[in-house]
Amino acid sequence: MDNNLGIYICSGCDIGKSLNVERLVNTAKDSNKPVVCISHDFLCGPEGLNLIKTDISEKKINKLVIAACSMRAKQDVFNFDPLTIHTERVNLREHVIWISPSNDNNTQLLAEDYVNMGASRAKKAAFPEPLIQDLNKTVLVVGGGVTGLNAAINSVKAGYNVVLVEKKSNLGGFPYSKYKKWETVPPFDKNIWIKEGLDQLINSVENSEKIKIYKNSKIKSVSGAPGKFNVEIEASAEDNKAEAATETIGSIVVATGWKPYEAKKLDYLGYGLTPDILTNVELEEFYSELSDKGKSDSFGVVRKSNGDKVKSIAFIQCAGSRDENHLPYCSTVCCMSSLKEAALIRKNNPEANVYIIYKDIRTPGEYENFYRKMQDDEGIFMVKGAISEVSYDKGNNIIDIKVKDTLFGGDIDLNVEMLVLASGMVPNSGDDVLNQEINLNSNSAQSASGASCPPSIPVSTAQVAKSGLLNLTYRQGKEMPDLAYGFPDSNFICFPYESRRTGIYPAGSVRMPLDTVFSVDDAKGAVLKAIQCVEQTSKGKAVHPRSNDTTYPFFDLPRCTQCKRCTEECPFGAIDEDEKGTPKYNPERCRRCGVCMGACPVRIISFKNYSPDIVASMIKSLYIPEDPTDENYRILVFACENDAYPALDILGLNKINLSSNIRVIPVRCLGSINNVWYADALSKGIDGILLLGCKFGDDYQCHFVKGSELASYRMGNLKETLTRLVLEEERVRQIQLEFTDYMKLPEIVEDFVNKIKSLGPNPYKGF
Ligand code: SF4
Ligand code: SF4
Repeated sequence: MDNNLGIYICSGCDIGKSLNVERLVNTAKDSNKPVVCISHDFLCGPEGLNLIKTDISEKKINKLVIAACSMRAKQDVFNFDPLTIHTERVNLREHVIWISPSNDNNTQLLAEDYVNMGASRAKKAAFPEPLIQDLNKTVLVVGGGVTGLNAAINSVKAGYNVVLVEKKSNLGGFPYSKYKKWETVPPFDKNIWIKEGLDQLINSVENSEKIKIYKNSKIKSVSGAPGKFNVEIEASAEDNKAEAATETIGSIVVATGWKPYEAKKLDYLGYGLTPDILTNVELEEFYSELSDKGKSDSFGVVRKSNGDKVKSIAFIQCAGSRDENHLPYCSTVCCMSSLKEAALIRKNNPEANVYIIYKDIRTPGEYENFYRKMQDDEGIFMVKGAISEVSYDKGNNIIDIKVKDTLFGGDIDLNVEMLVLASGMVPNSGDDVLNQEINLNSNSAQSASGASCPPSIPVSTAQVAKSGLLNLTYRQGKEMPDLAYGFPDSNFICFPYESRRTGIYPAGSVRMPLDTVFSVDDAKGAVLKAIQCVEQTSKGKAVHPRSNDTTYPFFDLPRCTQCKRCTEECPFGAIDEDEKGTPKYNPERCRRCGVCMGACPVRIISFKNYSPDIVASMIKSLYIPEDPTDENYRILVFACENDAYPALDILGLNKINLSSNIRVIPVRCLGSINNVWYADALSKGIDGILLLGCKFGDDYQCHFVKGSELASYRMGNLKETLTRLVLEEERVRQIQLEFTDYMKLPEIVEDFVNKIKSLGPNPYKGF
């Protein structure tokens, strides 16, 4: 296909008043030899847009450079078919005239460089060839509890078939075994709900023609990718009579719920001393069995140890929760559960006193209404305190609890007949018995060809060691990696419902501690994600966060050295490998981040519109003045498109000045930066390189999980390049930046520019 370049420079939004647009047009013409290069005073208006459309039709322009506002603005206007027209947005407004002095030579040079970089990229870019496929769109729901049932029924409502796999012989999950639940509709201040609603839901699921149910079953293995998962189902341990089956699946909702925190770890709170010290789950189970599954009212009436009528029951909240030695998080449901249980005890056994010892009572939103109602009960005593000791007087069959009152001070000594430990939720996200160290990097030091390769970032071993839930046949491990504490979320802030395995969506209390009310909404959210995934994938489009991107990486495998860096570093487990270590790329699992491209030491991974070569040509197009004056220093900034680039836009929007020494190249993720670009830039005469990307660490912000952390890690390998070029390490710096940190940018940039000036100009200038 012909490469017909058209450069369109807008002079609206004060661009024409701040820049010499005529000079900009002439420079762009001289440097890039476009078919068309013109300016217009209102490019996004109907006339400007028609001008472009006419050139596309009459002059066969297929590579557009729109030098105007940010690529994040006017996306609905400059919206040409990406399969036939490459559109390159050059940001003259936010990144040039709004942050630099008007009619200034350095501002003009900045604009000229940006237009030339845009033209270089447009010329090199090829058109995407989306992978359009006829794919399976059935939703697999793993788990038949409240979340799973809601996921199944909502998938059907949206028109999709469902395969539901439940390990037990009955549907309903944990709430079904509970005595009673609190009501599910606000304002949560009335009666306690029983479980008719759940029965109806189970009935609807069991009678739906679009839902195929496997009870007493579990997942033996999952292979493939979204739209073509191959799922092997086998009998669960509970019933080995269930038949094995294989299903082809589009996407997966994991609704496997939670299990209680191990009670024996609560021995410091007296667990194990007497049957009368029990967990909240055991309390429910005990009275449910006694009460004919909730149909009679004997909850809280008898004592577990001897069957006598109980007169005093205490609850210890946060038993093993919000505690660094146990579960560091809050499980959200325990406070409401204990209040509900206290209400039932008081209803059925009005003479009993109930004591609730808490760190904080957490009943968010309208649940507060129920808490207030319980505060008014004269038989319920709430104590904000810390437990000093729990002991058991066997002779008198009495439990003694010593409490430090943290609200009013002083010590409280409670003697009760039963003690309930409100323990927390642990996600059923995989069997953690295999939580052992596996060194995935042990093969990385040497490639199959024998060449030594730089090490890749250590993969979190606890995540890959789990097994037992999905049993994925992926190179990176059998289960969804955790965000924290076993919860398999991907990016808690930006993309709840996502896992780091494309097409697989955790929902309900396996994703985060949730009660049944919130789990219902969570199920709907996960189903929408699952549907989006199969629909987008069948059109060859990416899912979050690069939604609609139709490009994907191409691997020039004959040149691969089998170093395995791409297979290990892909944040989404999209790449498997053959027995020799050659990557086996799965495009349907790919999120198009480019981390593999950044990882590849031999630069054989590229996208049609983003590649080591394309960025190298952008760097090459820069004008590097040789005269070592302050304004002639050149700093290349690689800015993450998700946080740093928008932060620069917001700075522009606020018209806050930034050094015109910088030249910004947006990157999909800092993890997509290939180390060759540093060498390209420094050998071109760039004086310093600044990386602006997301925060990393445990509470990372990176849209591609560890991209910015990988960039930092890989910079360790850069020392060799700098030493070879006889350049100082300080010429490359990475800054972790959030979108909201935009006001810090002037100081960050100024500080780096000053540092580079103190080192002096790059000696490669002019070579
Ligand atoms: S582009 Fe990202 S998600 Fe796709 S294979 Fe490469 S690293 Fe994995
Ligand atoms: S494609 Fe590149 S990163 Fe992946 S194994 Fe081959 S050489 Fe290594």
